[in-house]
Amino acid sequence: MTIASTLHCDWEAALAARAEAGLLRQTEVLQPLPGPRPFYRDSAGQTLLSFASNDYLGLARHPALRAAATASFASGEYGAGAAPLLGGVRAEHEALAQALADWLEVEDVLLFGSGYLANLGILSGLVEGRDLLLLDRLAHASLIDGARLSGARLQRFRHNDLAHLETLLQKPRRGRAWIVSEGVFSMDGDLAPLPELSALAARYDAGLLLDEAHAFGVLGAQGRGSLAYWGLPAGAVTLRVGTLGKAFGSYGAFVAGPRRLTRWLQQAARSYLFHTALPANVAAASRAALDLLREGEGLRQHLQGLRNTLQAGLQGRAFLPSQTPIQGLILGSNAAALRAAAALRSAGIYCPAVRPPTVPVGQARLRISLSAAHNQDDIQRLLCALQLIAGGE
Ligand code: PMP
Repeated sequence: MTIASTLHCDWEAALAARAEAGLLRQTEVLQPLPGPRPFYRDSAGQTLLSFASNDYLGLARHPALRAAATASFASGEYGAGAAPLLGGVRAEHEALAQALADWLEVEDVLLFGSGYLANLGILSGLVEGRDLLLLDRLAHASLIDGARLSGARLQRFRHNDLAHLETLLQKPRRGRAWIVSEGVFSMDGDLAPLPELSALAARYDAGLLLDEAHAFGVLGAQGRGSLAYWGLPAGAVTLRVGTLGKAFGSYGAFVAGPRRLTRWLQQAARSYLFHTALPANVAAASRAALDLLREGEGLRQHLQGLRNTLQAGLQGRAFLPSQTPIQGLILGSNAAALRAAAALRSAGIYCPAVRPPTVPVGQARLRISLSAAHNQDDIQRLLCALQLIAGGE
């Protein structure tokens, strides 16, 4: 008898059931083709133009990131080798954290291994078991997982529904209340009503944690995100989380806010304490990306032009127009979304179907993610391909 055969769950049957429901996920190898535009070659040799990446400013292929990573690598060390508190950090980490803090005009920035780890860490590190966590219904999985890890009472408020949130804030509670939302929602691309969220947090003496994964680099002057977009001061939120794997075109994440909180998280966030520090050359590349992102007004304008073309071309479709590079085309059933993604693929476009639990049941969709690395011809090509699948919706 093998160990596997003694397991209770029949994994093969579970996988088959997933496939039957159109919910089986698979990773595939997509090799980048040379050049700034997001072309890839799949393992069958097909060339695909991607609309799946969160590399909103097209920085992932920028020579400045490559040069910074290579120069840092020349110092001879790749992996950092240990957790930051154990093996120390390098000058590249310090320079990046300082530059991020200057950019956001906050006291301090703490680097994390990824946005997922940052969200686990801040929620479990700051929020206590007797607290109340109020999460937007569409909050990212990493925020939900962090909330669960905190042991606090978790309640979800209807998406961007301030009245619902206020009712929950009015109920008696034992500890502190925390509101958790995203500046830009990852799947719908819409914005949180931040001025109102911040006012509610102040009125009910609640903390406000904001995930800016899809906002930094995209919204506001110098790409400073939601606070800049809404004209709010840094103190309008308790803490912000940013990831370096999206508009920065790199990898890693950070938490930005008052020093007393970042210092506390260094003691209490287990996903910080027990992760290996980012490779120094990844931090160096992120630092180079920050310069491009701050000066990236031209890229943001170009992106807006692409979005306008796409939105004009998609009028009349079941479409979630947003002010961000994330544009959702709702197909409904998993099967319809999978069919649409397959049809796009046969036209040389990579835009996978997004299904539950990433989006609510019945709202399977194509999540079209635009990048400043696309050009207007790319959008026309996408629109033509979408035209072909119009009948199949
Ligand atoms: N927050 C949000 C809103 C996200 O969309 C994501 C990534 N999809 C994360 C956090 C996690 O970030 P990372 O990919 O850096 O782990």
